[in-house]
Amino acid sequence: MNNDFVFVNGKIPYYQSRLFNEYGVPHAFFTRIGGVSGGVFESLNFAIGAGDIKDTAENVAQNHELAASVFGLHKEDICRSYQTHTACVEQAYAADRGRGLTKPPYSHGVDGMVTTEKKLLLSVRSADCVPVLLCDKSKSVCAAVHAGWRGTVAGITKNAVELMVKNGARREDIIAAIGPCICGDCYEVGYETQGEFINTNPEYSVFFRPNREKYMLDLNRANEFILISAGIKPENVSVLNICTKCNEEHFYSHRRDGINRGTMSALIHI
Ligand SMILES: [Zn+2]
Repeated sequence: MNNDFVFVNGKIPYYQSRLFNEYGVPHAFFTRIGGVSGGVFESLNFAIGAGDIKDTAENVAQNHELAASVFGLHKEDICRSYQTHTACVEQAYAADRGRGLTKPPYSHGVDGMVTTEKKLLLSVRSADCVPVLLCDKSKSVCAAVHAGWRGTVAGITKNAVELMVKNGARREDIIAAIGPCICGDCYEVGYETQGEFINTNPEYSVFFRPNREKYMLDLNRANEFILISAGIKPENVSVLNICTKCNEEHFYSHRRDGINRGTMSALIHI
């Protein structure tokens, strides 16, 4: 961890961006600690799972309730994305409270959400991919974004900034927090992935380091760069810089644990 973030070590621990705290933006990047799930999902797990081992819907619902309680809210106040590695960012409204939990999920891939609705908790889930939270300094609009390599190269963080601007945010007033994700020393990708980035923008080559027949990709740096390219001031981007794969005690990791593993969450509201 660097100086940009604080670790709040309570019954349900979480990381917070100092920048967000400076402007009083309610948010949390949760760890795997403090929930009710067991086994490979121990313990604050936010998804039933995509492998052959499943967590129960009751555990996942209870973990959402525990996370919402940190904000004095309930799981009915959470809007849950439907993450399929798209660059799709949608606006969430009052009617989206409880979406994916107490109400039906989105019917198509929604990897990012923006809202102007007060006390509507936007949720992003990850286990190596990059969770990005955004807010404007006057707390009139916030966003939660899931940026794996596909979403990153397709510009999902930029799409979130554009939708915030459409909702009245000024670029110079937008603050961003990049949460726990896989580090540039752990995230090995193939030539095809590297090629997709370079074809999108040759400047993206700086995120890659050659490693034998493959490349190491720094998703932290890529998302920071894309945010700044979208008009966010460099001093308004905070990066946690803790690796999910390197820190088993605190985080689930898809690359480390495979498909039978839990999923973390980050939440934000205005
Ligand atoms: Zn690492």
